[in-house]
Order: sequence, then structure tokens, then C-alpha cells
Amino acid sequence: MSRSHLLGAHSADAYRRSLLAGVERMTARFARVEAPFTGVTPHGLAPEIDAVDLDTPLGDTAAALTELDAVYLRDAVYFHHPRYLAHLNCPVAIPAVLAEALLTAVNSSLDTWDQSAGATLIERRLIDWTAARAGLGPAADGVFTSGGTQSNLQALLLAREEAKTDAGLRVFTSAASHFSVTKSAALLGLGPDAVITVPCDDTRRMDTTALARELAQCRRAGLTPMAVVATAGTTDFGSIDPLPGIAALCERYGAWLHVDAAYGCGLLASRTRRHLLDGVERADSVTVDFHKSFFQPVSSSALLVRDGRTLRHATYHADYLNPARGAHPNQVDKSLQTTRRFDALKLWLTLRVMGADAVGDLFDSVCDLAAEAWTLLDADPRFEVVARPQLSTLVFRCAGVPDEANRRARQALFASGAAVVAGTRVDGRDHLKFTLLNPETTLDDIRAVLDLLAGYAAAPVGDDLVRTH
Ligand SMILES: *Cc1c(COP(=O)(O)O)cnc(C)c1O
Repeated sequence: MSRSHLLGAHSADAYRRSLLAGVERMTARFARVEAPFTGVTPHGLAPEIDAVDLDTPLGDTAAALTELDAVYLRDAVYFHHPRYLAHLNCPVAIPAVLAEALLTAVNSSLDTWDQSAGATLIERRLIDWTAARAGLGPAADGVFTSGGTQSNLQALLLAREEAKTDAGLRVFTSAASHFSVTKSAALLGLGPDAVITVPCDDTRRMDTTALARELAQCRRAGLTPMAVVATAGTTDFGSIDPLPGIAALCERYGAWLHVDAAYGCGLLASRTRRHLLDGVERADSVTVDFHKSFFQPVSSSALLVRDGRTLRHATYHADYLNPARGAHPNQVDKSLQTTRRFDALKLWLTLRVMGADAVGDLFDSVCDLAAEAWTLLDADPRFEVVARPQLSTLVFRCAGVPDEANRRARQALFASGAAVVAGTRVDGRDHLKFTLLNPETTLDDIRAVLDLLAGYAAAPVGDDLVRTH
């Protein structure tokens, strides 16, 4: 009976049993996770996945879950583990996980009111709530997006449409900004010379003197400063560009100010660090990734704008969907997407169960941990650490060894599965990076991971440290 697999009143029992079985399985898996990773290689895992015959269903949830455990759950990378220290992935808030199950059960689509009803109003409340925390004023608006990449793309689309001309448009962003800025400029057809990279000072924040110089030069050359993209929390350094100084320059040159707070948005909920975002209220648009510093599951993100009318540049009408003279609020009028998930529900339940202070306290605790870990690293002769963190990342390298040893240390650690750290390049040299987003991580975890890294980096080349799976 294939219909019994579809969710509805007739299948209530199957629905309940299926989801409970999944929750039980996941709970059991969590109890067994002893490291963030097993060290499995693509080579080791591919045969198990290739062996699954997709044309022969197992016909049974329990059997499918057992199979899934072998092809996915057992060897997944687990962000809740205190020694996962790599990318901007967070452990997720339980109310948000619950919301995820609910929103897919209803399966609302946020493009039009007639596919979403209350979901549209809930999303709008959350946009208003977030914009108010950012101080964007009474005309602010925005929309949920799939992530910071899409938010940045839409922000630059609006900036381009608001520019008085379409020739010689230039976008200014720091050397430490996210690559989606350049990618967006390319997607918008702005041309290969459109993005001007502004140097950073040694705290890895945009140098406003250099920005002023670049803007003046742009003007002198008869080009148009379309937008400045400031970063509030760079991906590598967590550094926050000097927003008030940048805002003043944007006003002077008539440039759109976009603040990419994909990472730093957690400060909007912080009770002790909100001031780090001062100046964000002068932005024309802001990117916020709830799936980074609000402990939300992927995906949950938004683009906010100071003047809601600018969102009209994303408005197109279709008779079958959102006719021009329609009477209802249709979020598709503000979005690059059409069919769109009700991701906002996750933040809603998080705020209704935990509250914003609890979210902000979690983010504060990882920022505090990063500050302590910086002191530890700075005092340890085995390491060189780059910039003192404003948020929760640490960029460092094993001292006195070649770049290659730093790369090898990271790979060996990953292959062991005992911890996961990130890598990046700074001033042409290979570095290691911790991104701390797990309040369960302790200074002891960090000490232990540093010992492992130092050991791997010091090991003679050729030592078979990489465990084969
Ligand atoms: C992560 C990140 C992005 C991209 O966001 P996604 O949600 O991964 O698309 C953009 N900007 C910054 C500063 C980021 O850290």
C-alpha cells in the first residue's frame, strides 16, 4: 500500500512510529559518538554506498535505518562533539530540531500566503525582531534565505539596482571578506574588475584609510562606488570591520553599505558584546546566518534591509502565483527563491522555548573560551598565533616547522578522527584554525588538541600517522 507512506490523518500511526524510530536511532547514535569523526576516507566509504540497490527498497523503516547507520550516521562528522573545532558549524538547539520536524510535516511554502498562512506572518515577525535588534529603523524589512551566500548575492543585486548608473560599478570589500562577495559580483555580471580589495590592518579589520583612498580614486577615475561590503565577523579571524567609519565613508560617497554579519549576528543576542556591532544600524543591508551563531540547524539565514522598498528589485509577478493586484502578503515578492522552506520556525521555537538571552549567553561563552585559548596559544612557544580574536576563531601555526608540517598535522588529526580543525593561508603561509562554536568545548579539550597537533607537526616525514580505514 504505497499510500500508507504518505503523511496524513490516515497514516498517523505510521508517522508516529517512523519518527520515533528515527529519534531512538539518533539518540542511540549520539550515545556512541566518542570522537567528532571516524577518519573514514571517501575510498573506504564509497563501496558501502555503491552497494545499495536503489531499485530494491527494503520496505521497512527499521531495516532502512540500520542501513543508514552504516552508510551515513556511523561515520558522519559530528559538530556537537567538543573536539570538533573546524568550521562555522554549531551544535543545534533542541527546539529548532523539533521545529524542523514540524515544518517538514506541514511542508508550508513561504512564497505565497495561500501556501503558508501563519508561516508568512511568523517569518515577518522574526525579520522585524532581528531588524529591530540591529537598529535598522521603522522602514526595515527582509526575508529568510538559504544562507549567507544567497543573502550577499541579493544585497549586491539591490545595491546594483539602486545605483544611479550601470556603468563602471565598483564594490569595495576587505581582503578578509567572504568569497561569496566576489562570486556575487560575477553572477551579477559586474565584470572582472568590479571588486576592489581593501587591505586590512594587523587585527585583520578593513583599513578605513585605505578604503577612503580607494573610494577617492574610484571617483577620480569616473567610476561609481556601488557598494562597500563590510564584514562583521570574518570567516577566518572573526574580525569586525570598523562599521562607524565605513558607514561615514559610504554616506559621503553615496555607496550602499552592506554588512555581512553571517558569523557575527550572534552578537545581536549577546548581553555583553552587542556593542561590537555598533554602526550596523547605518547599513543599507545586513546578512545574518542563524545557522552559525544562533545555534540553528542548516539552513536558517536572512537578508535584512533598512528600507523595505528596495526589496522591490526582487519582485516579479506571475498570474498563477502572485498576481500584481493580489490582496495578500506574498514573500516571494522579496525573495530570489520561489518555493521556500519555513526555516523561520526554528528560530521561532528557539526564542519561545529558550529565549534570546540564552542564545546570546551560549555565543558569549564560546567567545570567552576563544579569549582564554588565545592566551594559552600566545604563551606556548610551540605555536605562533595571528590576531587576538573578537569572536570565537583562532588562527595559528606550529612554529619552527615548514608549512608542509602544518598541513600534515591537520591531515593526520583528521585521519585519526580524534579532533577536527580547519586550515587556511595567511600572508602566503599555511595556518591552522579553530572555530569555537560549541559551549561544551573546554580549555582542556583545546590543550589536548594542541598537543596532538604539535606531536604530528614534529613527527618525521614518512611516519605512517595516517590511519587507513
Ligand atoms: C559563512 C559565511 C558566509 C556564507 O554563508 P553560507 O550560509 O555558508 O552561504 C558569508 N559570509 C561570511 C562572513 C561567512 O562566514
